[in-house]
Amino acid sequence: MREFDVVVVGAGPAGGQCARKLSSKGYSVLLVEQNESFEQNNFSSAATPLETLAKFDLPTEVVATPWRKLEIITSKITRSWHSSEALGVVFDFAKLRAFLAQQVKEQGGEVYLGYRCYQSQGNIVFLRAKKGEITQIKAKVIVDATGYSRSVLYPNKNKRPTFSKAIGIEYLIQVSSQIYEPYAENLVFFLGHHWSPKGYGWIFPMDNFQLKVGIAQIDEPHHIVEKTESLRYYIDQIIRDHIGTIDYHLLETHGSIIEYSLGLRDCYYRDNIIAIGDAVSTVNYLGGEGIRHAMDGAQIASLAIERYLAGQITDFADYQKQMLNIYRSSWVKSEQLSRKVYLQYSDARIDQGVNSLKYLSTQEILVILFNYRFEQYFKGIKGYLWKKITRLFASFSAK
Ligand SMILES: Cc1cc2nc3c(=O)[nH]c(=O)nc-3n(C[C@H](O)[C@H](O)[C@H](O)COP(=O)(O)OP(=O)(O)OC[C@H]3O[C@@H](n4cnc5c(N)ncnc54)[C@H](O)[C@@H]3O)c2cc1C
Repeated sequence: MREFDVVVVGAGPAGGQCARKLSSKGYSVLLVEQNESFEQNNFSSAATPLETLAKFDLPTEVVATPWRKLEIITSKITRSWHSSEALGVVFDFAKLRAFLAQQVKEQGGEVYLGYRCYQSQGNIVFLRAKKGEITQIKAKVIVDATGYSRSVLYPNKNKRPTFSKAIGIEYLIQVSSQIYEPYAENLVFFLGHHWSPKGYGWIFPMDNFQLKVGIAQIDEPHHIVEKTESLRYYIDQIIRDHIGTIDYHLLETHGSIIEYSLGLRDCYYRDNIIAIGDAVSTVNYLGGEGIRHAMDGAQIASLAIERYLAGQITDFADYQKQMLNIYRSSWVKSEQLSRKVYLQYSDARIDQGVNSLKYLSTQEILVILFNYRFEQYFKGIKGYLWKKITRLFASFSAK
């Protein structure tokens, strides 16, 4: 039986980054992915702020396009912000994950594509290949990086706790240069009952005159809107009524699920298993931004794994503590705000909240949408800006 220091199950951003970090330090690492190629589950819209590239030392080859504008559109209001410099990028999600896996190999690790982990027992990981053959691998540490399915920690679906579930689907469409132009370098978000009750919609640019048009909705009833349509209905509506065309080529439809533990009550470890990324709800509930946080958590976990392998710790309790210190407070605030906006508020209320964002500069809106540290930010600011923010928050948060 083959033996590794660490088997990482799931080659998403979390698993790829964790395996990349550990293999760079000389540990023997196996990265396992159930899909045979990264094109097969190319589900993520993959927008991220600029800092992600430098923080994780990512090359421009994984970037589809930069973005430097932001727009929020409700039933009645449009607010936009822009900068002359790039504010972030939209990844090519397949290329990002392929790059991480390639790095693992270049650093002496191994990657098994097309192998599903269906069980683990103590130090043994059981893998089933697409063609059915079973492989057993021995590992000192097993990493559950399987995203929302958490399939190492919970191989039996019936024994999983309850999560808040959101479903997202997206079209990748090819359009003419003329249609593409207003969306180039622009992240457009749609809110409100008309565009996407129970969630939000988006248009993100890709390279080669391609656009990603998507909808994500929480799988729970809305307090006001009794009947909602299919996700495709809302995507078609954005393309028809906002982009204003029926002249496009549908290249791909993809999507996935987010299962998020409200209050971050996930199980972070059990025995020699440690969970990372969406498997411990690192995705932010407000806008579904998860890549950066999955990779960040993976780095924190990789340090804990090193200490475990060196015999300095015997469990991953400190890792759990560290993750909750970093994420819990701002993630819980994001949940609270999101559940109001997506599941409770009237359309007029959403219009009003987005209208008040006009007081914010581009840097200020970035802090809210991508830093999530609402209160820390508010405490540090004074005078005019403080008044702007309190007005904004009063309009979004008052009952
Ligand atoms: C529609 C949609 C749009 C999104 N848009 C954005 C965005 O614009 N920006 C952003 O930052 N985030 C976005 N996200 C969220 C982001 O994609 C996730 O948070 C991120 O991918 C989580 O990374 P992960 O590695 O934890 O999990 P995943 O990316 O889900 O990776 C888990 C991997 O594990 C594999 N796997 C599962 N079970 C097994 C098994 N038993 N054996 C072997 N392999 C297994 C899966 O095939 C998968 O490849 C979006 C999500 C969705 C659904």
